[in-house]
Amino acid sequence: MAVYQVEYYRRLKQLGIRGRISVEDYLELAAGESLAQRVELFLMGRASRKLRSHYPAHPASVFFDIPCQPPFLRDWHNHFDNYGNFVPGYCGGISLGSWHDLDRLTEDGIDLEEHVVLRHLIREDLGGLFRFARDLGYQELSDGYVSNCDLCVDIRRFLITQGDFEELAPREFYQHLD
Ligand code: SF4
Repeated sequence: MAVYQVEYYRRLKQLGIRGRISVEDYLELAAGESLAQRVELFLMGRASRKLRSHYPAHPASVFFDIPCQPPFLRDWHNHFDNYGNFVPGYCGGISLGSWHDLDRLTEDGIDLEEHVVLRHLIREDLGGLFRFARDLGYQELSDGYVSNCDLCVDIRRFLITQGDFEELAPREFYQHLD
């Protein structure tokens, strides 16, 4: 657990934690307190995989209409990764293009005909991406999903095996999810 916000610092100090501690040990020490009760915690990327046993899971359809915007398309707090990817919001594993070419990207925009994953997410949210992936053979997880981003990353992990989707980058993100 990293000291990311001041509330983490307060909690770790209150609990007498020094150095590193595993999430399991933290929860035991905090007597089952919800991980997200006091601090900002995003159930996306690898966190949704690793922490899934601590959250209720739901069928995919529960998340179909949760809007991905503004988190997915916004003009504040996006990320530039070390590999040149302009990452929307906190959506690890998705690239809107190269930040080396940011002026052209912001002026010309994104060609959604060439970037089918972005097209579905922008126009239809997760329901659209799910239907696209299902038509390619994606199978819904029987034990459900803990968040919309958990579903999203599972679909994308499948899609990366099905074609060369330039916007699913960096590819190594998908190799280190488990
Ligand atoms: S569901 Fe996917 S695109 Fe939408 S906010 Fe989560 S990671 Fe980003």
